[in-house]
Amino acid sequence: MYIYDTHAHLDHLDDVAGSLQRAHVAEVKGIVSVSIDLKSCQKNWDIARASTQPKIYLAMGMHPSDARAAELPACIDFTRRHASDLVAIGEIGLDFWYKWARKDQQKKDEQRQVFRSLLELAKELNLPAIIHSRGTWRECLDTALEVGIKKAEFHWYSGPLDVLKDILAAGYYVSTSPSIAYAPPTREAMQLAPIEQTLIETDSPVMFKEEGREDTPFKAEPKDVWRTLKAYAALKQMDEAKALNILNQNAQRFFNLE
Ligand SMILES: [Zn+2]
Repeated sequence: MYIYDTHAHLDHLDDVAGSLQRAHVAEVKGIVSVSIDLKSCQKNWDIARASTQPKIYLAMGMHPSDARAAELPACIDFTRRHASDLVAIGEIGLDFWYKWARKDQQKKDEQRQVFRSLLELAKELNLPAIIHSRGTWRECLDTALEVGIKKAEFHWYSGPLDVLKDILAAGYYVSTSPSIAYAPPTREAMQLAPIEQTLIETDSPVMFKEEGREDTPFKAEPKDVWRTLKAYAALKQMDEAKALNILNQNAQRFFNLE
């Protein structure tokens, strides 16, 4: 038995070596480590080189919350130089969730510029895109389609169901996090999305609630992808082993893992 965590920020974990060791013990076979800016790309590159088990797969890019147009050329250059070692471009996208973000037209345009450039890079390098689309679901989908992206994943999807239907119709994937155990928008989305277009992840080191113990949040690390699986299988009323088998195949197919 094995499992993949398809979305973790390894460079942001407090205890990288310990987390990787615990993941290995927990039969996590591979982790896709996503990057948020140039420094994060460099750190993840170093982490991946130092680890053999679990296998670390790299995604490079610039997160919308860290979108800095001035740093983008250096980030793209670093990503391009490591292209043959990447499984995706990410985490990229748009995030206008907070009021201040919605009001700041200049920041929004900077995010849009960065997102579009990195989608173009994904297309050029023929790599899938890992898209962060909180509060911008429709615009992210439209942009990906405009650029002509073939393979995209809408990470931790919790948006409206009409946009979700269009994401799925485009052949894109969605992923889900440990929040599937309790968050209604996440649960509704995953109820609708077919398992064949779904990936599971932790978004480590994000804090999540523990089922039935809402007062004691925990900081996710890659081994907690088992929690995502358990809650996912329960929601879909599927046998856990059967769900895992399909989700593993999805991860292998989507990221082209060996
Ligand atoms: Zn993330």
